[in-house]
Amino acid sequence: MARECNERCGWFKMPEIKFTKLFINGRFVDSISGKSFETRDPRSGEVIATVAEGDKEDVDLAVKAARKAFDHGKWPRISGFERGRIMSMFADLIEEHLEELAILESLDAGKLHHLCKILDIPGSSNSLRYFAGAADKIHGQTLKCSGEFHGYTLKEPIGVVGLIIPWNFPSIMFHSKVAPALAAGCTMIVKPAEQTPLTALYYAHLAKEAGIPDGVLNVVTGFGPTAGAAISSHMDVDAISFTGSTEVGRLIMAAAAQSNLKPVSLELGGKSPLIIFDDADVEKAIEIAKRAVFFNKGEVCVAGSRVFVQEGIYDEFVKKAAESLKNWVVGDPFDPHVNQGPQVDKKQFERVLQYIESGKRDGATLLTGGKACGEKGYYIEPTIFTDVKEDMLIAKDEIFGPVMSLMKFKTIEEAIEKANNTIYGLAAGIVTNDLNIANTVSRSIRAGMIWINCYAAFDRNCPYGGYKMSGFGKDLGLQALDKYLHEKTVIVPLQGSPWL
Ligand code: NAD
Repeated sequence: MARECNERCGWFKMPEIKFTKLFINGRFVDSISGKSFETRDPRSGEVIATVAEGDKEDVDLAVKAARKAFDHGKWPRISGFERGRIMSMFADLIEEHLEELAILESLDAGKLHHLCKILDIPGSSNSLRYFAGAADKIHGQTLKCSGEFHGYTLKEPIGVVGLIIPWNFPSIMFHSKVAPALAAGCTMIVKPAEQTPLTALYYAHLAKEAGIPDGVLNVVTGFGPTAGAAISSHMDVDAISFTGSTEVGRLIMAAAAQSNLKPVSLELGGKSPLIIFDDADVEKAIEIAKRAVFFNKGEVCVAGSRVFVQEGIYDEFVKKAAESLKNWVVGDPFDPHVNQGPQVDKKQFERVLQYIESGKRDGATLLTGGKACGEKGYYIEPTIFTDVKEDMLIAKDEIFGPVMSLMKFKTIEEAIEKANNTIYGLAAGIVTNDLNIANTVSRSIRAGMIWINCYAAFDRNCPYGGYKMSGFGKDLGLQALDKYLHEKTVIVPLQGSPWL
């Protein structure tokens, strides 16, 4: 466990928490009920701020504002080029406030501060820039018609969208939905996760400063079963884009079906495999496995938490993996030497520890870690289990924590079968220098994202989304725009047509 610290160490200067109210129709307002909730620092469990708790009535106000901005406002009507110009100003403002945003993100979510500065916050402004560049390139097609007709399609913004996001990448998730929705000309209600509301409210303020008109971007903080459910069941919300658990994805789809049949896109959970073949360089494979499982303290939807290692290198891999974790530092995420910060909250911390206990009970061998660490806060040691059987809970359930399940395999066919033996299909990793193995396995795994000799590498130009119970629809890439667009077909008779 690394040094525990606070702002007195000089690692950061505690910012004033300026934005804690709901952002509706361009103004920060209290919730109608007057209720609020606490957001806590996972390093200590102490309260960082008290935030307005939105509910059905607040969502209703936000939807009315978004509806008015969509039906009568300028955002969907100005040129894509102008929308892109304003979005670029929004991105500039994020970069100007990078330091403060990175501190809020680390404080609220326990994320490594140095990574927030080079990954989460710049990744957010770059999403805005990417989709700003796309905003004036959204167009339909010219259709070849038999007979004397001219046909074409128009791409139109889908309307008022509900964007419901989780806590593990609060800024990146916010912008991977807000940026394409803005580019498409939609208006929106964003519901950040109750664990991490602070950066979303800050972004609302910056959006207004950048010139995004009132009512276009509304942020309602609050809880899932109240504020979240009110968005997904609202009759005047035209589409939902959700990232979160498979369990809540089901509820959202049911709410959409029972209300106005709004289209839904779901980016859900996973239990992704990382398959390491005999020809791999063992040291490199261990680095890839550590990135796959322990990055962001395992709170990663694509976490490659089922690690399959071929029998020829299995023993060497186990020995060296345990050794390499001796230098792994768990501690204060503001300390630049730390590899892993605290789990996001007490609930998640306890859940991960329960899974570790279940692994021990089920007969898996604890190779490293296996317990909480630190005097306070929600820190857990990086944990590796060997002798894991496919029917154990630790091999089946998404743990969302720093827990690796190591399993051995003999043949390519066995690896493919084991990798696919899951209800999920979000991602997979393959470590090999053999091109034929890489090609065969990547084509045989039923998952939306495959990494060869790397893991959790994302690019805003590479679409990302799941197969099976990991959901459907894409974030990132130009395909992400599709969720926020309708395609309308127009047919018109040409000269000489009997219709004229
Ligand atoms: P969660 O599903 O509990 O919550 C996600 C969001 O949904 C939160 O904003 C929450 O308030 C809201 N919500 C909860 N109940 C709701 C309801 N009944 N109606 C509407 N909204 C509701 O997930 P979480 O615990 O915040 O995040 C962890 C999960 O998210 C993991 O399963 C993880 O795999 C998944 N995730 C997936 C991706 C991806 O891109 N596929 C990315 C990050 C996280």
